Amino acid sequence: MANIRNIGFIGIGNMGAPMAGQLARQGFALTVFDVQVANATAFASEHGARVASSAAEAGEGADAVIFMLPDERVVRHVLFDDGLAARMSRGAVAIDMGTSAPASTRATGAELAELGIGYVDAPVMGGVVFARDASLDIMAAGDVALIERCRPLFAAMSRKLWLCGELGSAHVLKAMTNYINACALINTLEAMVIGRKFGLDSTVMAQAIDAMCNGRQHPVVKKVMPHVLTRKYGTGMAMQLIAKDVKIAVDAAHSVGAAVPLGEVTAQLWRAATEQLGGTRDHSEIVRYWEDMTGAEL
Ligand code: NAD
Repeated sequence: MANIRNIGFIGIGNMGAPMAGQLARQGFALTVFDVQVANATAFASEHGARVASSAAEAGEGADAVIFMLPDERVVRHVLFDDGLAARMSRGAVAIDMGTSAPASTRATGAELAELGIGYVDAPVMGGVVFARDASLDIMAAGDVALIERCRPLFAAMSRKLWLCGELGSAHVLKAMTNYINACALINTLEAMVIGRKFGLDSTVMAQAIDAMCNGRQHPVVKKVMPHVLTRKYGTGMAMQLIAKDVKIAVDAAHSVGAAVPLGEVTAQLWRAATEQLGGTRDHSEIVRYWEDMTGAEL
């Protein structure tokens, strides 16, 4: 397969503009399109790219077409309603770098395969700042040879490429990472509000939480990797103690009238796991409770 040189880039928004900018800096020939024409023309005047008058035109003659669009519905609209798929060359590759729903990604991949067009999902982690200094994490899924062919593009925009497996699985991983972070944000705000109601200073709490819950204290580093995935279950802290601590937090919230919805569900889960597995088991064994409940194995 020939090297990718000509790139159609569709969606020159907050993320797309700095990402496409990295490709331009690395010498790829870019044709850009955005329904907000000013986005595309501003980009072109800064980076010397060609502006297409439609998505289909951006794909004509392109070795690869990158989407940095709001979601999978827009991706499909561009491909199949705006006529892009019909104008792309056989052997070209389309790459969805936005955060799209994985089932749609798989369906789109199958439809494009019928036209001889490859498809890769390659969503990114890190926001605009990371896009501006080419330090995004890119998760890529689909045909391995296709991903390898796209690697120079990804290298121009990122610090790390995570190979995920079958088409759509990078979109799954992306959604899961955002889900974890979205939960953690609510969880943190929930906890800090409880603390405020007890008179704690917000900056002190934020700094302490950073030191005690992030980095090597983060559950994935401290528990999932060394104790859950290895099945060592040796953190040295019993399940009943964590269940007690979560109950203290929830009771504390109730005593000052602070909302604690995540805490209530979490307390209930730890209580149920303790009853099922036994309170003296290592608390990392909660994974067994989870695996029983879901029928899946980590
Ligand atoms: P954005 O709204 O800034 O950019 C999307 C661009 O797509 C806009 O310029 C819009 O005009 C254009 N567009 C919409 N419909 C179009 C169409 N039919 N044809 C051509 N262009 C069209 O959004 P963003 O923040 O750049 O996010 C893009 C994707 O990246 C989303 O899926 C988002 O979830 C994901 N993402 C965003 C961030 C972030 O920090 N903003 C980080 C990681 C991933």
